[in-house]
Amino acid sequence: MCLCKTHANLQSMADKLFYHKVIKSSIIENLVESLCCSSNKQCIYRECAVCERKTLEVSDFDPGTHTSWYEWKGKVEERKKKKKDGTEEKITLTVHLTVKEKVEGTLHTLLEDFSMGLKEKLGKHVYNIRHQYTALRSLKENLREDEVVLHIDFAENFLCKYSSEIQAVHFGDSHKQASLHTGVAYTKNDIVSVCSVSSSFRHGPCAIWAHLCKVLSFLKKKYPSASVLHIVSDGPTTQYRSKKNFYYFTNIPYQMGWKKLTWNFLEAGHGKGPADGIGAAVKRRADDIVAQGKDLPNAQVLFDELQQQKSSIELFYVEPEDIESMDVHMPSELQTIRGTMKIHQVIVWKCQMSWRVLSCFCSAPHDCKCFHPEMVMFPTWNEDFPLASASLPDTSNNLQHIVDLHEGLIAQWCAVNYDGDVYPGIIQDVDVYGGALVKTMSRIGQNCFFLATKG
Ligand SMILES: [Zn+2]
Ligand SMILES: [Zn+2]
Ligand SMILES: [Zn+2]
Repeated sequence: MCLCKTHANLQSMADKLFYHKVIKSSIIENLVESLCCSSNKQCIYRECAVCERKTLEVSDFDPGTHTSWYEWKGKVEERKKKKKDGTEEKITLTVHLTVKEKVEGTLHTLLEDFSMGLKEKLGKHVYNIRHQYTALRSLKENLREDEVVLHIDFAENFLCKYSSEIQAVHFGDSHKQASLHTGVAYTKNDIVSVCSVSSSFRHGPCAIWAHLCKVLSFLKKKYPSASVLHIVSDGPTTQYRSKKNFYYFTNIPYQMGWKKLTWNFLEAGHGKGPADGIGAAVKRRADDIVAQGKDLPNAQVLFDELQQQKSSIELFYVEPEDIESMDVHMPSELQTIRGTMKIHQVIVWKCQMSWRVLSCFCSAPHDCKCFHPEMVMFPTWNEDFPLASASLPDTSNNLQHIVDLHEGLIAQWCAVNYDGDVYPGIIQDVDVYGGALVKTMSRIGQNCFFLATKG
């Protein structure tokens, strides 16, 4: 699937409606425009009274005609991990999949769902993609002497290899993996690529910051006059968009001497950028080393061998202990940020954080109030008294509302309140614009949408 889920699902519906000659065009982004009176945010976000009355132009059709179309859905599957001798191990793996499912219905329901999707999802989605792209391009083009832009991503793990068994052995559990966190840093007059390597598979906020600590101190040494850091994150790593990540973000760089920070998120599903290319380049180089007859049995050897190579990519090694040492600084409770998935920019100034739905640099180096930034207070990092010693409160007996809907919740249990009864279920997918898809255990059917609190 080369499109994101939002684009792919609406395209599939548009193709079917176009096939049945219900709509006159299947170019979905043009159809969004046909529902708006201007390309302003207010119109595309459907906050304009004129746009509200606009409907999709359709030809005469029989609404009762039966049809089917495809939908991509996030899904969670439990898989038993097998041991080498074939016996089943006790560990079950939770696998996140995107599956294509056939949906059946009438042309009427298809058209209803489609126009709802155009209005509620695609418009905002397309607007966000374009806005973030433009805002970040202008940021990079107008960088000042004291600014650094760091575009980051977690590359897919590298599977460690032995040169003698590339072809012969089916890669099994015996192969260790190395995780690669990559980035490209831009200053006014310079560009540098970075990649940190670790044997730890952790990709959560503690791991992100163990990796970033190496990179940020390197950048601070290389560009001593830099004091403003703009992070741009790629890809669907929702760990970047979590309150734990924001907690570290408000504290760690400040201690290193960075004075002002922004974190900018590219729209989900449209974030393939330069950092992704660094991961691919590092993996290619590692494959070349193996092809030359060298073994890369683990992350440390991979790192050592990569360092021997002539390369413009700056490499760092992150010990698993570096990641664990981050854990102790995490407070047991952090303020929940409503609507975390809608956040596209976080701004930190003197350990105070604010966030907004879109990035803006219109008044740089000063702040602007565009897109209504909201303040969040976080506790301050204390080197002498790590806060994490307090245990998490036991909430297992109380049902709690999910106010902070994010992809990190996928595969987690939740309770669905349906018609006054409570049903247990597992969250299959979350949708930034709507709610969560929950697979429940009982009477209300296999799949049930419920709306989470509007943030
Ligand atoms: Zn998309
Ligand atoms: Zn309008
Ligand atoms: Zn602005």
